[in-house]
Amino acid sequence: MNQEEILSIDHKHIWHPYTAASRAVDNLVVKKANGIYLELEDGSQLIDGMSSWWSTIHGYNVPSLNEAIQRQLENMSHVMFGGITHRPAAELTKKLLQVVPKDLEHVFYCDSGSVAVEVAMKMALQYWHSKDQGGKNRFATVRNGYHGDTWHDMSVCDPVTGMHSIFNNRLSPQIFLPAPQSKFHGKLIPKELEKVEEVLAAQAHEIAAFILEPIVQGAGGMRFYHPDYLKSLKFLCEKYNVLLIADEIATGFGRTGKLFACEHAGITPDIMCIGKALTGGYMSFAATLCTSDVATTISSGSPGVFMHGPTFMGNPLACATALASLELLLAKDWQKEIRAIEGHLKASLSLLQDLGTVEDVRVLGAIGVVEMKKNVDMKAIQDELTKRSLWLRPFGKLIYTMPPFVITQNELEKLTTAMSESITAYSKKSR
Ligand SMILES: *Cc1c(COP(=O)(O)O)cnc(C)c1O
Repeated sequence: MNQEEILSIDHKHIWHPYTAASRAVDNLVVKKANGIYLELEDGSQLIDGMSSWWSTIHGYNVPSLNEAIQRQLENMSHVMFGGITHRPAAELTKKLLQVVPKDLEHVFYCDSGSVAVEVAMKMALQYWHSKDQGGKNRFATVRNGYHGDTWHDMSVCDPVTGMHSIFNNRLSPQIFLPAPQSKFHGKLIPKELEKVEEVLAAQAHEIAAFILEPIVQGAGGMRFYHPDYLKSLKFLCEKYNVLLIADEIATGFGRTGKLFACEHAGITPDIMCIGKALTGGYMSFAATLCTSDVATTISSGSPGVFMHGPTFMGNPLACATALASLELLLAKDWQKEIRAIEGHLKASLSLLQDLGTVEDVRVLGAIGVVEMKKNVDMKAIQDELTKRSLWLRPFGKLIYTMPPFVITQNELEKLTTAMSESITAYSKKSR
């Protein structure tokens, strides 16, 4: 099939994330990917500044991940998980539990990040059901959050920026607090927590859990908030008997400079979701972890079992890949890599602050964000970027990068030069 034919079928029949089926969009046709590069059908190469949405932390076509898949493929690519277990699941779990925040001891494997959040919310509801406190059946969260696209997840996404506003009157009404204003690199604003405490004090009897993304709010605005906010929130949740769900799907596996963003605050949530980089971006896989208090409470209540069980639960191929990815990450000085990326992003992107079109530039770990004053014209900015051999996927006012950790200083230089030049050129044209 040639490029024209691929694009023609794509235009006519294939949905893409958040697109119309009737209007042709200029999707790039990627033929293969290697290291940090995407290779297009025409042979040109783009630096992937997105890590395929937070996931390909080691880049593409990684020898040890390829080997892990091939080895596992020869044993079995899948087997049902009901009544059956296997070595890849046990080995991954052993390794995972060594590195996640302490006291998380039970792992529920599932298909995608969105499902992991559904599972987390069901765990919280079943926890209180088992304690005969079924009235605790709502969720508290903060604005600007994003937790996935499935039904109950949508109810805790930001009602405006969370991309699901047209469904609002069909969703369970949850309790929204203002987005954290205490910036990561600034000072904690104690008033914010007073407001949280007010709400918990008044409504804890109907709240099963507080759910939020630790430290970095991703798709809801790319905002970095103060670790003490999270620390105080954990304290308040304990004080008012509300479970804390940390959605680490974007932040997990080193992206923010810590293996898990909860570590910035030194807390352990009751329930934690991971996904995205879990398999090094090789395939869809996610997990929901919980403490033994949550697990044993659910298991000792009625009906005494946790009511969830996906067909592809604990997929061996995904487990083997996730294990190889985690081993690869832990075997190297990944913190040094992140620090180098962070230093470079800070030094280079901060120069954009002087452009009249730019509202804010912020960097945390291997995440660099340029927030524009106005929503960007996606096509215009992407044309500038691809012209300079860089793949980014801006949204709203945000032009941001989270490169694979393996990017070299030289490649980083190219990335930030292309990003800066594109934003400068775009700004001149859009004025
Ligand atoms: C991406 C994301 C999800 C959803 O994960 P999918 O694999 O896309 O279903 C949930 N929460 C956060 C914080 C995310 O970044």
